[in-house]
Amino acid sequence: MAGVSFGDIFGIVYGMNDEFGGMVGEVEIPKWFYPFLEDRPFKRCLICEQELLGGDVQYLIEKAWKGTEVIFEYAICLACIESQQEELSLESLQNISKYFMTQPHFMGRPLEVVNWPAEEPGRWTQRCALTNRPRWEVENYQIFGHFRGDKMILSVYPLLICDEATEALAERLSKKTRDSLDDFVDEFLGMPPEFENAPEDTPLVLF
Ligand SMILES: [Zn+2]
Repeated sequence: MAGVSFGDIFGIVYGMNDEFGGMVGEVEIPKWFYPFLEDRPFKRCLICEQELLGGDVQYLIEKAWKGTEVIFEYAICLACIESQQEELSLESLQNISKYFMTQPHFMGRPLEVVNWPAEEPGRWTQRCALTNRPRWEVENYQIFGHFRGDKMILSVYPLLICDEATEALAERLSKKTRDSLDDFVDEFLGMPPEFENAPEDTPLVLF
């Protein structure tokens, strides 16, 4: 199993040494990154189950929305993300990075976010980071956030990816990468049955 790593992609498209780019600030974890229908943040890594909130552990959260329904959601620590990446095909990484580089809003994002107020973390996910479509126009989307302990890090994260962009990304994955993503979904994430029957509609696991 393997995920497609934004860390790798950011490194390539932004030419960043630090895989998550410049930091704007750290804020309380917003409720929209809590597990669906729960009143507290994610507590444990999906894979190694280590405690996330107590100390300095860094982790990512992904939530995939279809209308008002959460299709999947998880938190994964950076150590587990690294161990997932071994099987990511170089071909997929290059294809996706090329696509990101043709998206002006994505390329301009590091310079844009430094002007956004840390008191308004919702600003980061108002529009798709790739297509710039506003969230209210998009029925299906995924949001990604980067966290340290009980704080959310503002950088190019958090970000929203709309369904159009997800489709464009999925088309650029090699079969090997796509298969290993499907294995990850099967192993770790429960899917509503309508997605299991239509794997081409399955949201992408990206981290
Ligand atoms: Zn872990």
